[in-house]
Amino acid sequence: MDKRVEKNKHSLHDRYTAMTHDLHWETTYQPMDKVFPHDKYEGIKVHDWDKWQDPFRLTSDAYWKYQGEKEKRLYAVVDAFAQNNGQLGVSDGRYVNLLKLFIQAITPNEYYAHRSFAQVGRSLRGDALRIATQMKSADELRHFQNQTHAISNFNKYFNGMHHAPQWFDHAWYLSVSKSFAEDALSAGPFERLIGLSFGFDDLLTRPLFVSLMSAVAHNGDLSAVSVGFTAQSDSSRHMTMGQEAVKFLLQQDAANLPIIQRWIDKWFWRSYRLMTFAAMMQDYMVPKRMMSWKEGWDMFVQKPGEALFAELAQLGLRKPKGWDQACEGKDHISHQAWNAYYGFGHTLAFHTWVPEVAELDWLSQKYPDSFDRWYRPRLEHYAQLHAAGQRFNNQSVPMQCQTCQFPLIFTEQGSGRWTAYRETQHAGEAFHFCSDHCEEIFSNEPEKYSQAHLASHQILQGHCYNAGVQENTAGFDRQAAVLDFCQIVQGHDNGDFTNSEDALNFENWGAGQDPQEAQL
Ligand code: ZN
Repeated sequence: MDKRVEKNKHSLHDRYTAMTHDLHWETTYQPMDKVFPHDKYEGIKVHDWDKWQDPFRLTSDAYWKYQGEKEKRLYAVVDAFAQNNGQLGVSDGRYVNLLKLFIQAITPNEYYAHRSFAQVGRSLRGDALRIATQMKSADELRHFQNQTHAISNFNKYFNGMHHAPQWFDHAWYLSVSKSFAEDALSAGPFERLIGLSFGFDDLLTRPLFVSLMSAVAHNGDLSAVSVGFTAQSDSSRHMTMGQEAVKFLLQQDAANLPIIQRWIDKWFWRSYRLMTFAAMMQDYMVPKRMMSWKEGWDMFVQKPGEALFAELAQLGLRKPKGWDQACEGKDHISHQAWNAYYGFGHTLAFHTWVPEVAELDWLSQKYPDSFDRWYRPRLEHYAQLHAAGQRFNNQSVPMQCQTCQFPLIFTEQGSGRWTAYRETQHAGEAFHFCSDHCEEIFSNEPEKYSQAHLASHQILQGHCYNAGVQENTAGFDRQAAVLDFCQIVQGHDNGDFTNSEDALNFENWGAGQDPQEAQL
């Protein structure tokens, strides 16, 4: 007699357990320590990997299904934007410079995060966490691809995007982002997990994916905003993973607390410095403004961060060491960065400019405690010089912080006047820093950071020229030689936006010309 097949209906929880925790096995013909050589040397102790519970209970089959659906919706928007010449509908030609900096500084970091998390997954012996990090790794690769595809439409019409990967490796100002990515990639697996998922994703990415992306939409870029929003749903998962990872490790062993605290101190500060790019985009590179960096910081970093650390205090964790200084910096960093990059505008692969009077007024209103006193007079001075045909170009090679690699452009906490500068000796050499926190990060691992590849040093040592270029010959132009080496096209990719090829093209296209026909 036929027996009726009973379909075995698992609950979501059982299904998650079966598809994640139960996939694991102990090795037999090689010791586990040899198969997983990296998850012990950082000092983190895990006694029971089964305690790790992915809050989303996501299994691989569900993951690929959700992501596939999101991709379909995203590419419908990106394709429609390209076919309808959406690049002509953005608020202002200056806006595109935000996308340039995005694809130069942020997008390559997504690729590094993909690699970092693939390696975290390989290195940890807990199977459920391995699956969660594998998904995060795939998410980051997806973000890299999505951003590249969405911005590629603009690359057809605008300068400043054509060699973004080369610039990431060689352009001095992008070493901030590259050193962040490589610091994570060369850390141990637990540090990478905590540093990127918690220090960066959980504490600091909301201004990037929420307030900046809203501004992008407000400026008519439906393509980039769709990419931002599709990434945001992944990022919510990443943030939760960061918090869960911190809680899981703190509950596993009391000895983990000081190690985790040090990583949170370090990665909060490194992420905060990296987010200076986002601050500058938000306040200076979005022509139609909505929200200032400071307002976004209050809403998306400071308030949720204070609440989160009040909760984590039960587990013995305190706020990151640089927290108060970072909160105070919300009045300053965007202005200090724009001032620096404006001055070095002839060495970048995007355009800079002095904001228009109405924009300066907006900044005065948004930053009543700092802008008029410290920053507006300087910008007005630049505008006067520019009007007189003497645009300010800073001819120096900047001193970079040994840790975060920003030029030393930030001021002391509580001051808009005094540039912060720290110096430490290590192995008979002097090293320079932008802040106490960068100095401390160095001092905790001097062997690592003393090897940092600082673009300004490399330039001065003559390592940034194409083969065959000779210094000290008649008519030798170091700046031109370095830009050639980086593949930044002088006069096209860099300099002031006013009278740039991009500005003239955008104006002409706005007058009704076909973008593909418009030639200068
Ligand atoms: Zn620094």
